[in-house]
Amino acid sequence: MPSPSAAASSAVDHIQDLGAYVSASPSSFHAVHEAARRLDEAGFTGLDEREPWAGGAGSFYLVRDGALIAWVVPEDAGPTTGFNILGSHTDSPSFKLKPKPTTGAFGWLQAGVEVYGGPLLNSWLDRELQLAGRLVMLDGTEHLTATGPMLRFPQLAIHLDRAVNDGLTLDKQRHMNPVWGLGNPADVDLLAVLASHVPGVPVDPARIGGYDVVIADTQAPAVFGANGEFFASGRLDNLSATHAGLAALIAHGSSAVSGAPIAVLAAFDHEEIGSNSRSGACGPLLEDVLVRVSDGLGASVSQRRQALAASFCVSADAGHAVHPNYPERHDPANHPVLNGGLLLKINANQRYATDAAGAAFWARLCGEAKVPYQEFVSNNVMPCGSTIGPLTATRLGIRTVDVGVPLLSMHSARELCGVADPHRLATVTELFFRTVV
Ligand code: ZN
Repeated sequence: MPSPSAAASSAVDHIQDLGAYVSASPSSFHAVHEAARRLDEAGFTGLDEREPWAGGAGSFYLVRDGALIAWVVPEDAGPTTGFNILGSHTDSPSFKLKPKPTTGAFGWLQAGVEVYGGPLLNSWLDRELQLAGRLVMLDGTEHLTATGPMLRFPQLAIHLDRAVNDGLTLDKQRHMNPVWGLGNPADVDLLAVLASHVPGVPVDPARIGGYDVVIADTQAPAVFGANGEFFASGRLDNLSATHAGLAALIAHGSSAVSGAPIAVLAAFDHEEIGSNSRSGACGPLLEDVLVRVSDGLGASVSQRRQALAASFCVSADAGHAVHPNYPERHDPANHPVLNGGLLLKINANQRYATDAAGAAFWARLCGEAKVPYQEFVSNNVMPCGSTIGPLTATRLGIRTVDVGVPLLSMHSARELCGVADPHRLATVTELFFRTVV
């Protein structure tokens, strides 16, 4: 079954499909694999960067490591046709497996991990966790692996730390070593366990040349609340936007719109660690694709500049709803709430790329899509986060607006959003993909 049409499906269908997408996507590599699977099913053609591309109209995608770019070129596209880009990211704060990962003491098997990005460490305690990511063999072939429930960061009993409720302190090296079994670490090999969980093919652990493996929560996403208004899940930052963009692009791809821009979903990796990588937003990935698509339409260098000037990027990333227990941490006048609509993120110092023209375009889009939105701006004494928006705008000069689904508990192992908002992002994105700026 292809993903339901973004605008046509209900908010409940959409949130259930988001839950299925998150469950299939414990790592960035899984997130792009599952996205590619859905795009294949919808008739998109996967392209190889090392091969020549035919160019012209059609629906395509490209995977580079943990990132994916997918796009639809309309039949009547020409060398100056603009790109309407929905930007998101596939990674989330977590822990990444170190070299020599098999450790342990006192009869416990443990794993050596590095902190990836900025997780709320306490939220990862006392959960059934899995290892997931890619194994790269000595011959260069890659396999995805996901262990299912296997690990836990066990919390210290309160009897052994009576002051814990006055301020939990977690040392990232001493205290964040998950357990995954009982035995002698000298007798086992965690890489062999990872190899045994590669689906479908036998993998010789001695032939593993490298790995990018992170920890992910295994608890299934859930709708809850007095009236089913809440949605709890890992990786809502930022699979809520990647999934919405995917649903919107698949829905868009099946509708022929004349005069439409080239619709693009850009799902980058490594946003949580600064985006400086070949699959991150600071790298050349998006530009590489846009240049090749524009070459395929016969654009000269100056026609490509015209196309970029006619382009627009909606940078969609999860943002903060107001927390009822910490209202002083938020701006006194702007209080976004769950299910109150999508965020329009504004920052005077361009931590978000939104400017007046971008805000006006967003207001127009949301009005036409009949989707509410709410402004987010930081309290002046709180440092503001950032997104791929300013990076994309800076690299390509494309006008960009920063938006997203409001959350509580951002960077927790299990974040919280409203059931209505992700569907709204898909709906407005579907309209964006066919809107001439
Ligand atoms: Zn994010």
